This record gives sequence, structure tokens and C-alpha cells, in this order.
Amino acid sequence: MEKSNKIIIIGGGYAGLRTVEYLAKNRQNQITLFDKNSYHYMQTEVYDLIANEEDFAQVTQDLYTFCMGFEENVVFCKQEVTSVDFDNKKVITQIQRYNYDYLVIAVGSKTKFLPNIKGLKEHSYGVKSLRHAMYFKQRFEMSLFNKVRDGGAQAEPLNIIVAGGGLSGVEVVAQMASYSREFYNKNNFICRTLNIVLINSAKNILKGMDEELMQKSKKRLSELGVVVKNERRVVGLDGVSVSLSDGEVLPMDFMIFAGGIEPNTLVYKLNLDKNERGYIETNEFLQVKKHSEVFAIGDCTTIYSKGKALAPTADIAEQMAEYCAKNIENLIADKKLKAYKIASRGMLIALGRNYAASKLLGLYFNGYLAYIVKKLIERVYAIRLSRVAKKGCGKIFQS
Ligand SMILES: Cc1cc2nc3c(=O)[nH]c(=O)nc-3n(C[C@H](O)[C@H](O)[C@H](O)COP(=O)(O)OP(=O)(O)OC[C@H]3O[C@@H](n4cnc5c(N)ncnc54)[C@H](O)[C@@H]3O)c2cc1C
Repeated sequence: MEKSNKIIIIGGGYAGLRTVEYLAKNRQNQITLFDKNSYHYMQTEVYDLIANEEDFAQVTQDLYTFCMGFEENVVFCKQEVTSVDFDNKKVITQIQRYNYDYLVIAVGSKTKFLPNIKGLKEHSYGVKSLRHAMYFKQRFEMSLFNKVRDGGAQAEPLNIIVAGGGLSGVEVVAQMASYSREFYNKNNFICRTLNIVLINSAKNILKGMDEELMQKSKKRLSELGVVVKNERRVVGLDGVSVSLSDGEVLPMDFMIFAGGIEPNTLVYKLNLDKNERGYIETNEFLQVKKHSEVFAIGDCTTIYSKGKALAPTADIAEQMAEYCAKNIENLIADKKLKAYKIASRGMLIALGRNYAASKLLGLYFNGYLAYIVKKLIERVYAIRLSRVAKKGCGKIFQS
């Protein structure tokens, strides 16, 4: 009987699913995917979820049917991994211990609710968790409705604050501004009572990103009526107001916090080498230090290109997954491992309805065309997953 390779993948995000897709092609690989949720959450589309362009079903993929869609060699386990015994090669959940020959850690990152900002966790929402995003989306629409009910232009202003001028903060603030303006305009409500403010600690939004994309985004936010307050930080909030580092106090109905991310909780518990920000350290083959059969990919690690850390994106996570899968196959076949060469394949920033700014293959383009390209990339990704899951559904109905 041929030996099978027991592979465990922790995390059904962009990195984890891509690894499953690659490794499943070899029937000798017995793959178990663990996720604490039953669904894959397409975070790159959250801006559309919040602004009611997409519903819950459009930004998720069921992981049971996805795994069922492969041959018999892929299994999904909806369990939160609480620890890993690296010496004895066991993944530990609250229910059981599972043996592995090869392990892939792909647990992503989470919103970092900074403990020194008073009231942050209690009074703001993150968008990295689907539950938070859903809750926020419902509150957002209800607040818009309440303002209309309370008298349109005569009503108290609606104050929306987004803290964090990185990619997620900019996409979310642009989409909310664009959506709420359309919401009022559709029914000829007057929307001059809508205040949308982006608080950004850096000199400019989209710190570290391409200068031209930054300038385009800045211009677009201004056209959408978003007030950007650079070089200021949120220092405290109480549910009705937000205090900034320069002493200004802004009224707030609600706030989204996109001001930072940190490694997922499991990463803190793992006995592995980490960098100064707590992310798992890997070598050029994406193996963790001291355990050659263990790989870390996606947002829970940091990788470098030309000495510079690459920004954590779904694009980078998927490229890491491809190298990781290849290197696991190489380890199994006793072949030389392949050092990663990863770079961003482009950047597309959604900036409200029907508008995006982009740089792809070195070319800049903005507006509706860029928006369509972004939507197309997202659709192709969702269709790819859903094709597998449909096969899985078919099997369930046959049995
Ligand atoms: C608003 C927003 C917009 C973005 N826009 C873009 C964009 O336009 N383009 C782009 O490329 N990137 C974008 N990103 C970044 C992108 O979403 C992330 O880089 C990507 O999700 C990282 O993939 P991952 O697989 O590493 O982690 P994730 O996708 O976060 O997946 C991690 C998985 O691990 C699971 N997990 C965590 N802990 C455990 C545990 N202990 N046990 C079991 N399971 C666990 C989680 O449930 C989750 O399913 C955006 C992010 C946000 C928030």
C-alpha cells in the first residue's frame, strides 16, 4: 500500500484555500482543512457588503461544500485550533489532537484594537471579522433611515468616522460616502447633514503605496465629500464623540477602526520564532524556523522583496500558497525546495460606486474601467471557488 501524506492546513482564508487547491491534485495527500468558521470570508469585497452592494452570500464560500468538491482526499473540520505540539507533530483543538506529517499555518491577522485608546473596543467596529462587518452594515443602513425619518435636512447630522488611512480604511470610507449620498439622492433627500471623516496618523493616506495612486485616491475622497484629517490619531471615544491627538473633539454616530492589524490569537500561543511585530518568521522556502515540515503563509507571516516587507494582501497570500504547496510536494519527493520570488501583481483600490484607481502591469488607469477590472478579478475568484463547491453540493445530494 502506498504511503499517504497527512497534511493539515489551519485557516480557510485566501492562503489556505489556494494551498488546498494545489495539494489536492496529488491523491496521496490526505488534507484536513481547519477553520473556526464554516465559511471563507472574502475580505477584499467587504466595502461592497457594508454599502449593501453585496449580501452575505456573495462575500462568503461555504467550506464544507468546497472541501467536498475535491476527491476523497480533502476533509473540512470546523474547529478552532488552540495550539500545536510541534515536537510530536500534533494539532490541538478543544475537541481532539490530530497528527500531521506536514503543517501549513494560514490563520491571517485581526484588527488591532489598541488598548491605549480609551473606549476603542467598546465603541468601534473592525471589518476583518464578518460578524462585525454585518453588524455595522445593518446599523449603518438603519442610521441613514432614522435620519430620513427624523426629518431629512432638519435632522441632526449623521457623523461617520473611519480611523485608519490604509487600503481598507480608504476603500470603506469611499464606499460609505458614495453609498450614503446615493441613498439620499435617490429619493431627493437632502444630504448636507452627512459628515464623513477619515482620521489618518500619517502625513498622507495610503502610506507606503504608489504616489500616483495615493494622489488619485485623495482627489476622489475629496470629490465624495470625505474630510481627511492627516497626522492625527484617535486618542479616545465614548460612543457619542471621538477625541483626537490635537485636542479636537468630533461628534460621532459610529466609527470603523481600520487603524492596524496584528497576528491572529493562535500565533501568539505558538512556540515559534516571531519578528518584532509578532508575525511568524519563515525562511526563503516559507518554512518556520526549526521545523522543516511546518510552513507559515499569508497575513500571519511577513515576507520581503528587495529587503522591504511586502504589504499583506490576498494577492501576496495566494502567491505564498503556491510556493508553499510546491515546496511540500518537493519535500515529499525529496527534491530541492524553491525559494520564493514574490511581488505585488498590481493594485486596485475601490473608491466608491463604479470607481477605482489602479496600477496593473505598470500602467495606471482609473474610473469605471478600473472598477470593472476589480469586480472582474473578484468575480473570477468567487466563481473558481463556487465551481468546486457546486461539485461538493452535488455529492451531498447524491448520497
Ligand atoms: C477592507 C479590506 C479590504 C482589502 N482589500 C484588499 C484588496 O483589494 N486586495 C488584496 O489583495 N487584499 C486586500 N485585503 C487584504 C486581504 O483580505 C488579506 O491580506 C487576506 O485576507 C489574507 O489572507 P489569509 O489567508 O492570510 O488570511 P484570512 O483571509 O484572514 O484567513 C484566515 C483564516 O484563518 C481562520 N482562523 C484564524 N484563526 C484560526 C484558528 N485558531 N483555528 C482555525 N481557523 C482559524 C479564519 O477564520 C480565516 O478563515 C483587504 C482587507 C480588508 C480588511
